[in-house]
Amino acid sequence: MNIHEYQAKEILKDYGVAVPKGIAAFSVDEAVEAAEKLKSEGSTLFVLKAQIHAGGRGKGRTKKSGSKGVLLCKSVDEVRKGAEDLLGDVLVTIQTGEEGKEVQRLYVTDGVDIEQEFYVGVTLDRTCAQNVIMVSTEGGVEIEKVAEETPEKIVKEWVEPGQPLYPAQARRLAFALGLKGEPFKKAVKFIMALYKAYEATDASIFEINPLVLTPDNDIIALDAKINFDGNALYRHKDLLELRDITEENPFEVEAGKYNLNYIKLDGNVGCMVNGAGLAMATMDIIKLAGGEPANFLDVGGGANVETVKNGFSIILSDPSVTAILINIFGGIVRCDRVANGVLEAVKDPEIAEKVKGVPIIVRLQGTNAEEAKEIIDNSGLNVISAVLLKEAAEEVTKAIAS
Ligand code: GDP
Ligand code: MN
Repeated sequence: MNIHEYQAKEILKDYGVAVPKGIAAFSVDEAVEAAEKLKSEGSTLFVLKAQIHAGGRGKGRTKKSGSKGVLLCKSVDEVRKGAEDLLGDVLVTIQTGEEGKEVQRLYVTDGVDIEQEFYVGVTLDRTCAQNVIMVSTEGGVEIEKVAEETPEKIVKEWVEPGQPLYPAQARRLAFALGLKGEPFKKAVKFIMALYKAYEATDASIFEINPLVLTPDNDIIALDAKINFDGNALYRHKDLLELRDITEENPFEVEAGKYNLNYIKLDGNVGCMVNGAGLAMATMDIIKLAGGEPANFLDVGGGANVETVKNGFSIILSDPSVTAILINIFGGIVRCDRVANGVLEAVKDPEIAEKVKGVPIIVRLQGTNAEEAKEIIDNSGLNVISAVLLKEAAEEVTKAIAS
């Protein structure tokens, strides 16, 4: 689960990680009020930041006003102007894709003077099953580029499961940033606190880009991206409240309500499959047949009428779907029962209406597969059966072509 920068910084602050002062705003008036408050506390420079679940805001532009997603403002009036430009406009960055994301929230922060920019990230290194803390002197730029072109400029420390991050490791990282004296000490404290927050919240990504050194020798997080491990969220009810579903794909949000594992993709063939491995293999087959999967959908082991119905609803609410491939392996669940379930779902008035003109290819394999094929062939409905995956793939190709 992703959260906004202002939420991430609140969490970091709670764990003693240094962040600039800032106030979230949902309207122009609130942004102005926030700037007034920061001004009364001594701020002379403000940063107005679009809050969307994507990075690259500084270099991004909004569609209507052409505003940047991160604005340095010298006065409260500039904050007002910036907020008017940003709110409700669509911000396009390197991470949002062309469609961009609507700006619904803003963050007004105290503007910090920058002496030097760094990068710090924490994530799970799956190759060795250990958390890794990465730092780089190449802050403020795309870290992916640094990793590709000059990987030696990223210095890493790994943490053994069940072990803490040791101060000696944090010192090695701070040293790698070329820091000395007071900034060095502050960076060590920063990294220790950052890692503690990462562990305590069961996060999967913490990314501070840039981490900055100020002319006053402070070490402070100018940006913060946090991603939580969805499988651990049951342990963090308070974090669940930070979810902003307007930032998520509406189809995926809907599928989540039905407990379906659904991921929206760009193609035209809707897929309904039981089991994640089979779902992935099915997507490969669709591609081999010349189609493009419109989604990944694992309806789980059960594949009963209810899950099949819910699966149809989700798949059919995506207008790009021109054909549906159902690929179910009947092991414990018998194929004839699944076949009846599919037919029952297709007869449902709401689904029947939406499914008009969308060919459905059903491939059932496993227990009672032959009976299942007969049930479908004799149904009189616009459902095509296939026993072999190859047949199913050919039917899909035909369906897309027609
Ligand atoms: P991103 O573009 O979405 O990664 O947003 P960031 O929060 O990283 O901001 C983009 C850039 O704006 C940073 O790399 C900084 O160069 C600049 N910036 C952000 N906050 C401040 C600030 O307080 N003071 C100054 N001088 N620049 C800032
Ligand atoms: Mn950034």
